[in-house]
Amino acid sequence: MSMAMTAKAERVRAKAQQHPLNEHELDLFFGTSAIDATALAAADADARSLASSSLVAPDAVGFQQAQYDDPHMIQFLPGMVLLRRFLSPSEQQRLVDDAQALGLSPSGFYKPTYASGAKCRLHQMCLGKHWNVITEQYDSVRSNHNSAPVLPLSAHWRALAVKSLDAARALDPRVIGQCRAMTPDICVVNYYKKAGRNGMHVDKDESAEALTLGSPVVSFSIGAAAEFAFIDHYPQGSEAVPVVRLESGDVLVFGGPSRRVVHALTRVFPNTEPSWLRMRAGRLNLTFREYQPVEA
Ligand code: MN
Repeated sequence: MSMAMTAKAERVRAKAQQHPLNEHELDLFFGTSAIDATALAAADADARSLASSSLVAPDAVGFQQAQYDDPHMIQFLPGMVLLRRFLSPSEQQRLVDDAQALGLSPSGFYKPTYASGAKCRLHQMCLGKHWNVITEQYDSVRSNHNSAPVLPLSAHWRALAVKSLDAARALDPRVIGQCRAMTPDICVVNYYKKAGRNGMHVDKDESAEALTLGSPVVSFSIGAAAEFAFIDHYPQGSEAVPVVRLESGDVLVFGGPSRRVVHALTRVFPNTEPSWLRMRAGRLNLTFREYQPVEA
C-alpha cells in the first residue's frame, strides 16, 4: 500500500471515529450549517422572475429540439420532457428536510449491494415499495437489507409528482402513454456523492401493465448538477449517446413511447449545489412511478 493510500485510510478511520454515522444512516445535513431563511426566500423570488426570462440554451447533443413558448420546458424524445427548475427553492428544501427525516430511520438510506457483490455507487431508500437490487423486484419489506418495513409515500410528495406530470402532459400528452391518469405509489430516493454513478439501464421492473401502457417516470433533481445520458436503444460499440445536464429543481418525465428509454447518470458535477440549499454536498434524486396503473 502506498503512503498516499495509507494516509487516506487513516483519514477515513479518524473521520469515522469522530462521526459515528454508518453508511445506513446517511444524514443529508451532515456537515451543513443551519438554513438561511432569508437566502431561501430571495432564491424563491429569483426563481419566480426567472420564469419569464429568456430562452435557456438547450444542452443536449444529437437531437433537434422542439422549442416551446415556455423556455423552461424542453422535449427530447417523444414522451420525454424536461421541466427546467420546476421545483421552487423552498419546495426543494422541504423535500430535502423530509428525506433527511425518513433517511435516518431504520427504513432509511442504505447502500445497496448487487448480486455480483459490487456496491452501488449511490445511497438509496424506497417509499411505497422496496426495490430489491438483487432480485430486481419490488417488495413490501427491505428483503435484501434489514427486513424493515417500507416507508409510505407521503401525500405531499405524491402531489408534487402529479403537479409535475400535469405540466409535462400539457407540453407533450404522449408522456402519459395509454394511461388515463398516473398517481405514483413508489418513490426511489437516490443520493449520489460527487463520484456517484448509475450505469446504462431501462426502468423495466414495475408491473407488466405499467410498462405496456407506458406509465411515466417522474424524476426530481436536487443539489449538485449531474449529467444524464439517454437514448432510445442500447448503444452499440462507441456510438455517441446524447446527454443533458440536470440542475437542482429540474424535473424529467419519461413515459409513453419513451418509457423504456435507455439511460444513465454518468457524472455528478462537484460544487454545483445552489448556495441557498441546506444539504450535504451531492445530488438527491427522487423518482416516482406507479407500480400498477389504475387501468389494469
Ligand atoms: Mn432509471
